[in-house]
Amino acid sequence: MRVVEPSYVIQDELDQASLVVRLEACGRICYKSEEKISKDSAMPFVKKIAEHGHNSVMEMAVVTLGVHCSAEQFAELLAVEPRYLFMDRLDEEILITGSIRSFRELYARSGDIAIVEAMLSFMVTDHVYLFEGVWDGGSDSSAVRGIAVRKLELREVEGLTAALLARHRFCGVMFTVNRAVTHEIVRHRPCSYLQESQRYCRYSQDKFGSQVTFIKPMFFAEGTEEYELWTKAMEDTEKIYLQLLESSTPQAARTVLPNSCKTEIIVYCNLVEWKHIFSLRTSPAAEPSMREVMIPLAAEMKDRYPAVF
Ligand SMILES: Cc1cc2nc3c(=O)[nH]c(=O)nc-3n(C[C@H](O)[C@H](O)[C@H](O)COP(=O)(O)OP(=O)(O)OC[C@H]3O[C@@H](n4cnc5c(N)ncnc54)[C@H](O)[C@@H]3O)c2cc1C
Repeated sequence: MRVVEPSYVIQDELDQASLVVRLEACGRICYKSEEKISKDSAMPFVKKIAEHGHNSVMEMAVVTLGVHCSAEQFAELLAVEPRYLFMDRLDEEILITGSIRSFRELYARSGDIAIVEAMLSFMVTDHVYLFEGVWDGGSDSSAVRGIAVRKLELREVEGLTAALLARHRFCGVMFTVNRAVTHEIVRHRPCSYLQESQRYCRYSQDKFGSQVTFIKPMFFAEGTEEYELWTKAMEDTEKIYLQLLESSTPQAARTVLPNSCKTEIIVYCNLVEWKHIFSLRTSPAAEPSMREVMIPLAAEMKDRYPAVF
């Protein structure tokens, strides 16, 4: 067995990547198949994911658009109650941030609304593969053509005033934590998540070193009797798990895996939600293993965005 410390990584690198590369990098965490990433792998991976309805992968990239339209056209959009979009009306344009999934589903549901079609036809110009199965070519009516749409680059989003920045800047963080922590994190509903799947990952395989990885418990100091007991429990569990895998599937064998199991999870949400998460998960009432990762992460976010946190 392997024992590792909990950790987190703010996914800055992915913020610089193209949408499809970002989606693949996040999606592969479920299968722990990152070794399959190549320069040509992203598009077929994302296509397959969309076909299979593994929809949460399509939530892992957001786009911020600046839309210039009439007040009536904006009212038409509001009337269909778009879900999971962040919208702010500025003097010159309307800022709209949403994930690929939210735009896909909005078009599928309300593609007849001029502003919806205008946003989609803008995005399919460069990213048609992200809207396969949904985009039908549009109507290209004069109302749609009259709406101007532009994309805000990340640096422009980062330059927004604090209130707008908090709503439109999405940050992804990959945590390596125990299963009890992931179980609690996913209760924060406005976020998007992807996590390592114990159904798809067979820890007896060579790429996992044929062993199960556990998170070092912060409750027990190494060398104490409690730590020895914990170690024995993990060793016994690993042995039984590997034995079960000889005749069973990973989803059956995983039923013996404990809360200490190492799990990678990506949490993706805007700064408003991160602020809410920190308020609950860094307080003395929060679970100590949760605080172990959230307190340093909150400090780092505060350094980056002092106006928001
Ligand atoms: C110290 C602590 C102890 C806890 N103990 C337990 C426990 O024993 N058992 C347990 O089950 N959970 C427990 N929880 C989980 C807790 O109840 C919340 O589910 C979790 O912290 C997520 O918080 P939230 O709902 O405020 O956040 P989010 O889910 O992030 O919600 C953010 C915002 O979204 C809005 N929202 C989202 N969905 C809805 C909705 N359907 N209806 C209305 N508003 C919505 C709300 O306005 C909310 O402010 C505990 C949490 C903490 C921090």
